[in-house]
Amino acid sequence: MRVSRYLIPTVRENPSDAETVSHRLLIRAGMIRKLAAGIYNYLPLGLRVIRKVENIIREEMNRAGAIEILMPMVLPAELWKESGRWDVYGKELLRFKDRGGREFCLGPTHEEIVTDIVRKEVRSYRQLPLNLYQIQTKFRDEIRPRFGLMRGREFIMKDAYSFDADDEGAERSYQAMYEAYSRIFSRMGLKFVAVEADTGAIGGTSSHEFMVLAESGEAEVVTCSSCGYGANRELAEVAGKEIPFPSGDGIPRPEEVHTPGARTIEEVSSFLGVTPDRLIKTLVFTTDKGEVVVAARGDRTINEVKVKNHLGASWIELAPDEVVRSVTGASTGFAGPLGLSVPVLADFSVLEIQDGVTGANRDDYHLVHVVPGRDFAPQAVSDFRLIEETDPCPRCGSAISITRGIEVGHIFKLGTKYSEAMNAVFLDRDGREKFMVMGCYGIGVGRTVAAAIEQNHDDDGIIFPITIAPFEVIVLPLNMKHERVREVAENLYEALQKRGVEVLYDDREERPGIKFKDADLIGIPFRVTIGEKKAEKGMVEVRKRETGETVDVPVEEAVERIVEAIREEYVRCQGFWKE
Ligand code: ATP
Ligand code: MG
Repeated sequence: MRVSRYLIPTVRENPSDAETVSHRLLIRAGMIRKLAAGIYNYLPLGLRVIRKVENIIREEMNRAGAIEILMPMVLPAELWKESGRWDVYGKELLRFKDRGGREFCLGPTHEEIVTDIVRKEVRSYRQLPLNLYQIQTKFRDEIRPRFGLMRGREFIMKDAYSFDADDEGAERSYQAMYEAYSRIFSRMGLKFVAVEADTGAIGGTSSHEFMVLAESGEAEVVTCSSCGYGANRELAEVAGKEIPFPSGDGIPRPEEVHTPGARTIEEVSSFLGVTPDRLIKTLVFTTDKGEVVVAARGDRTINEVKVKNHLGASWIELAPDEVVRSVTGASTGFAGPLGLSVPVLADFSVLEIQDGVTGANRDDYHLVHVVPGRDFAPQAVSDFRLIEETDPCPRCGSAISITRGIEVGHIFKLGTKYSEAMNAVFLDRDGREKFMVMGCYGIGVGRTVAAAIEQNHDDDGIIFPITIAPFEVIVLPLNMKHERVREVAENLYEALQKRGVEVLYDDREERPGIKFKDADLIGIPFRVTIGEKKAEKGMVEVRKRETGETVDVPVEEAVERIVEAIREEYVRCQGFWKE
């Protein structure tokens, strides 16, 4: 591809709304452009990277026996009502009506649609197992679209759905996807971990997330190097639940104290001169199962996901001020677990408090000498908090570490959740009708590109792993007006293409500095520079983007040397040369 005939609108300045490296670099490298919040145009270079990622995914899905299909993006409400998700999916589901008043939504995920296909087309155990996948555009009306392709509203996803005759089969399908995912992310040269995760709006019995480790990740990943345990922090259990209620011996009755304006844990603890671990932090949540109050030790963080799962709720949100007032009679910041009429859940860390401080459910007042159990009786005492780095591994008791990660893939065991709701049955060997056992498996294509950039860049720009680079080589003549330089460049460009190499040819009449900057920014793994002096001597310079290593090679050997370097790079990155 000739740069002069192509569209690579690079930008020198960082876009002001881009908070992450990948967002900045995708814009600056001319790969994407924002159309609306969380909705992007993919420009030519960006689309090439997207296609590379899709192709690796496709090859590995096919290798694992999955079969490609394509489902629509516009989905009728009926199927969503059948599964029950029309009402519980929340505002991420963009709903609308057609001219006839019929309800539709834009597909955020496709369990209902694929289940409908399979229940109509599959009758017998002989047709199972079946794993159908697609690579398709999804829409989720995310509250906070951000970080470019990382959290969009419209984004490309690979989603696969497996159907098996029994649990053992479903387990095999799940394992096959686990392995396929590991191969996919390895081939892209990513450093990742697979961890236990929450099942969220998709549901099902268990799941694993594939996390690319990066500082900018929105998720936190708990890992234990002793036993190999790994979990999303929102799911990771906290060990040591078996604590008895405090005795309350010798502790006076609760007493109100005036704490004007002291609302936060820090404010209350400094106002009263008590350490945060003696405070009973109390938060009010609204959920689809009603309001709930959750208490934890002041220096702990309440984990909404655990609360939501305990309640069997589909959504949970911190209550707005009006709701806090109607539940507690006070403004936000003065809530306590005593004397409320809504259910109180206590994290077990509350039981570590012998003589506590908490909100008095009255503006500008707190209570001192509060004893859990004696002064309030939680409806449940369980693990409702986030694990901390100082907590032991829930599996083996060793030290854990918490790092940030980007969730690029998520695999779920669905069991019969959708097949029961939608009556997806087959006739088993013995002629009996049974529900199919399902699994579902997603990869965010754009998010994977963003994650790869988060892990592979320097101050000058992107350093694409060769397996997903938009081009393998950039041919960069320093002076297009110099006849010998242009001739060598043109010949190399043609010859490399003939050898099947993906070449970008910077044939612009630009200053060398600009060409070098652009080449570094867009992250092409190899650069061949043709300068006047070296060209006269029959030499060109080959430079590797990642390491900056350069070698001079004779023009007549250049093609073979470059092909060899590319081959080595593929083998290093994914273990083999191109398919
Ligand atoms: P998150 O917790 O980040 O919102 P999720 O659990 O909702 O993700 P899944 O429903 O498991 O995501 O979707 C499968 C994959 O699709 C995710 O692993 C992720 O790579 C990708 N994905 C999900 N939401 C987005 C989004 N808003 N933008 C880009 N990719 C996304
Ligand atoms: Mg989500």
